[in-house]
This record gives sequence, C-alpha cells and structure tokens, in this order.
Amino acid sequence: MIKKLIKKQFINFKPYTSARNLYTTGTFFDANESPFETGLNRYPNPSYLKLREMLADYVGSKSENIFIGVGSNEVLDLIVRLFVEPEEEVVIFTPTYGMYEVIASKNGVKSVKIPLNNNFQINKQGFRKSVTPKTKLVFICSPNSPTGNLIKKEDILEICENFKGIVVVDEAYIEYAKTESLANTYPNLIVVRTLSKAWGLAGIRVGYAVASSEIVNYLEMIKFPYNLNILSETAAIKSLKNQARMEQQVDIILRGKKTMIKALKRLKLSVYDSDANFILLKHDNPEELVAKLAQDYEVIVRAFDKYIRITIGLPGQNQKLIKALTEIL
Ligand code: PMP
Repeated sequence: MIKKLIKKQFINFKPYTSARNLYTTGTFFDANESPFETGLNRYPNPSYLKLREMLADYVGSKSENIFIGVGSNEVLDLIVRLFVEPEEEVVIFTPTYGMYEVIASKNGVKSVKIPLNNNFQINKQGFRKSVTPKTKLVFICSPNSPTGNLIKKEDILEICENFKGIVVVDEAYIEYAKTESLANTYPNLIVVRTLSKAWGLAGIRVGYAVASSEIVNYLEMIKFPYNLNILSETAAIKSLKNQARMEQQVDIILRGKKTMIKALKRLKLSVYDSDANFILLKHDNPEELVAKLAQDYEVIVRAFDKYIRITIGLPGQNQKLIKALTEIL
C-alpha cells in the first residue's frame, strides 16, 4: 500500500551502501577514516540501533518502527521528499508550525491552508472540500503551535481512516499534554517526535518518526548515511536513561504554566488554554508589545499575527516576564 504512495523516482532507487553498514567490528580499512583514536575518528553505525531501541521502548513500539533524524525538521523534510511529487499538494491547518509550508515549498510542493475553527480545531468540512486527487499528505500538529491546544483525537483518527494519502502527526509537545500518543495506530500515519522540547535537548538535534517498518525502510533508503553524529547519539542515549528527570521537569513547567496563566488573566490579557509548554495570548498590537519587552526589559517573546506566544521558563524567569508586563500594562 505504501509503495503506491511513494514518489515514482524512489520505486527503483538504489541507496548508497556505507562501509559501516556492511561490517561493524574488526580492524577497519574500509571507510578512509583516520586511524588515530579520538573517540570520534570513526563514522557512526548508520543503523543507530541502540538509540532506536530506547526510543521504541519509550513510545511503546519496536526499533523497526523508529526512524531518527537531525531534529524532527529533517524527518519532516524527508517525509515530504519521499512521498510528494512537485505537482501534488499537502494540506496544513493554520495557524500552525511554519516549517511545514517552508519544507513543502523547498520541495516544490504547494501547501493548501485550511484555517482551524474558532476553537483551534480542524474544520472537517473545509478539509473534505480541499482534498483532491493531488492531495498527497496532511500535516497535523498536536498539541498545535502556536495555538497550544491538542487536536481532537477522533478528528485525527477520522482523517487517518478516510484520507488515502499520508497523515503526519507532529507530537513535538506531547509530553506536556499528558495524553496518549497516536503512534502505531494506522498504516498511513507517521507520528513525528523530538528530543528538543520536554527532553531538553534542542542543541543536539535529534528527532524521530514512529511509523510502519515499510515507511521506516524507505526513509532509511533516502537519508544521508550518517545523518546523526556520534556526540548527539551519545547524549541522546544518556538522557533517555533518565525519564524521571524529564517528567519532573515537565511537572515544573506545567506548574509554572498555571501560575503564568493566573498572572496574565489578572492583567486582563486574553489567554487561551494550553496543552503545551507555551501560552498564546490574543493582543491588538503584538509587535509593539514584543518590541517593548525586548528593548526595555530584555524579555523575548514571539508575535504571530494578532497573537503573542510565551514559552514557560523557570519560575524566576516567569516572574521577570510577569513583572515586565505588569509595568507596561
Ligand atoms: N514541530 C514543531 C511543532 C515545533 O514547534 C518544532 C520546533 N520549534 C519542531 C517540530 C522542530 O523541532 P526539532 O527540529 O528541533 O526537532
């Protein structure tokens, strides 16, 4: 079934076979590396099996269902490259994470934008109307950025069930939502995750997809052989051993979010509910407020159209933001 969906150019594609794919032990004369030991003089093993096993354990899946990328951005890009022909289209539900459109555009693919409804949920009728034979892939971000809310599970599953293309659900912020992942539910569903958010590892650039082994094998075929570097691989493995620490940090962020929402409401700001580690505010003049916070208080938040998005920080940092807003407003 998946074979019918991949781009024509990949049906008989011959991937590069890297030296470390063939032999992983012995005295290496096969990859033109330096023999002087630095701990980093050898290429990584391109299967990243240990890290895949740990991620599979974490998400309740198998290593054959995990594909690792340089941040989830690389995973998202490879998914578009694998499936969407330039004359085809992707659907995005706006406002959402800006990279979906950028990645589509980079690959010569048009993004059809369906605005989320007033509750920031999927406009199902709008979606049905927008699907044409050209629609190959749908991006759903849940919890969504910048709005912060989870997308209703039944709406996502309905799309997986009825849409004949690929459904990508970006769960970058799922750990903050304390809800179950949608991974491993449908053959046309690819769940994309990252270690950049709750795991606190944005600097090492590790993201992953949870998908059928067939999709994972195709992604493996088109990725660069040693996409993840050894330093990132090692740091990711080390962090994943301490899930309790990640969960404690998530709890601190969620408590900070509660305090922040109360304080913002006290300032009569219009705050939306959030299932993520950030809050969205509606504001008439976001650019001006964002600039004032940055210039006068060195407090950096982000403006989106008629909204401001605030990431939750440490309690002391949150207080600094609240104090600045109190003085300005
Ligand atoms: N998805 C969403 C919804 C995001 O907000 C981000 C980062 N801001 C990413 C994916 C990309 O994350 P990374 O490449 O760091 O894994």
